[in-house]
Parts: sequence; C-alpha cells; structure tokens
Amino acid sequence: MAASDTRRWAIPAALLFAVLFAAACTSDDDGGDNRLRVVTSLELFADMVRNVAGDRAVVTALLPSGADPHTYELSPGRVVDVAQADLAFVNGLGLEGSLRTVIDENAGGPVDVLTDGLDIVDGNPHLWLDPMLAISYVQSILLALAANDPEGATEYAASAAAYADELLALDAEIEAALASIPPERRKLVTFHDAYPYLARRYGLEVVAVVVPSPGQEPSVRAIADLIDAIEAQNVPAVYKEPQFNADVLESAANEADVQVLDLLSDAYIDGVESYIDLMRFNAAQLQEGLGGS
Ligand SMILES: [Zn+2]
Repeated sequence: MAASDTRRWAIPAALLFAVLFAAACTSDDDGGDNRLRVVTSLELFADMVRNVAGDRAVVTALLPSGADPHTYELSPGRVVDVAQADLAFVNGLGLEGSLRTVIDENAGGPVDVLTDGLDIVDGNPHLWLDPMLAISYVQSILLALAANDPEGATEYAASAAAYADELLALDAEIEAALASIPPERRKLVTFHDAYPYLARRYGLEVVAVVVPSPGQEPSVRAIADLIDAIEAQNVPAVYKEPQFNADVLESAANEADVQVLDLLSDAYIDGVESYIDLMRFNAAQLQEGLGGS
C-alpha cells in the first residue's frame, strides 16, 4: 500500500519539479518579464498598440521603420519573434505581401487583422491614412488585447479612449489646416495608390499615381499619361514617397513645371516617429503644395 502510494506520487512530483524548473528558466530567459508579447507588421501599428497597451505589453514591429511593406521580405532570424509573440497585428488586404504568409504560418498566438469588418474602397489597404478609420484600428487593438489579457481590459479601455480622443483632435487639426485649399487645387498625384481614404476624408481628388502598388514598373505610356494628367488638370504639386525611387515623378514634375513634395504612407522618415507625427507631416506638405499661399 505504502509502496504503491509512493509510486503514484512519484510521477506527479517529478512533473511538478519539471514545471517549476521550466518556469524558473523561462523567467530567467526573459528577465522575469511576464508582459504580453506583441508583434505588428508596420511601426505605425506598433505605435497604435503601444498607445493602448501601455506598460502591459512589449510591442515589436517586424518591418524596419523606413521599409516598404508591399515588397519586404522578413529575415529568417525575425521569424523567432513571430513564433514567440502572444498576439500579432497585421493590416490585411495584401499590404504585407509575403510577410503576411510568414506571420500566418509562424504566429505563436492569434493574428488580428486590423481592417477586418471595415468598409474597403476598391481593395485598397491604406485605411489608416484617414484618422477616423485609425480609430477603428484602435478599437480592434483594444478588443484583441483585452481578449488575450483580460486582467488588463479596464486599463486598455481607458488608454484606448484617451488615444481615440487624440486622434479626433488630430482629425480636426488636419481639417482646419486643409480648409483654405481652394477647390480647383484639391488634386493629388502620388507615387503609389495609398491615399484614397485620406482624399475622401479631406475632400481631395486622386488625379493620378505612378504605380498602383510598389514593385511595379511604370510603362512609358503610363508616364506620358501622368504628365498629361498633371498639365490637363492644373495639378499644383506632386508627391513622392521617401521609401520609393522618385525619378519618374521628378521628371514628370519637371516636364509639367510643378513642384515635388513628400507624402508619407507606410513608412517613417527621420523626425517622424508616430502615427500622429506622420499625419501632421502629411497635412503640412499638403498645405504647402496645394494651399497656394
Ligand atoms: Zn502602401
């Protein structure tokens, strides 16, 4: 009887030891950090997640801050970050290109698609460039964080509400900055097709793009059409994006005798380190190029 009892308890005791030992090792490995591990595709989304998660999560973007998500290929070493994450956020709608497959196949936890359930224009993935839709991203982030870390739900909800208020104020600020642009100058020519949601929100018209999506080469015909569109519609300025080669836009702008400014979409530049920074930068560029004063 006693021998049998000993045997019966022998295994659980060994298991218990193994579990405690593993737990000790794990907490040594990550410095005792029990915070939620989150990965995102873009730095932009990491910024949004940090605004909601505060100190409760360690948030890492998989793309370097100046990289183009449409064509980026993740280095094998970063796949470990994907596998170790409790939660991943992607934009969806093809924005992440091949990176999306890597995330889906290796994710250590749920993959939250930020554009799920939102109204999409022509399959275009760049919804966040409308601050009101960025608020929808924040709601999606809040729900996913709370589902994966229920103890933090109240804290997440309070932070998300405060951040949404900042985004509402940002929207009003951009609206005011662009209000003085005359109707005939509200025309947008950009490198890739990233601005339909921004244009719709602030009453601009997308007249032409060099390429629908990065990684494509514009044809000679497309470049001729671009120059024609700039001249025919009296487009006041054209916008390059710093992460892409601007040669085609610059020669088209030269030909049509209009200025070239920068507009940001998927990537950061020096001095722009948050979603709000990026949108303020865009508003200032639009005001300068189209404002006409
Ligand atoms: Zn893009």
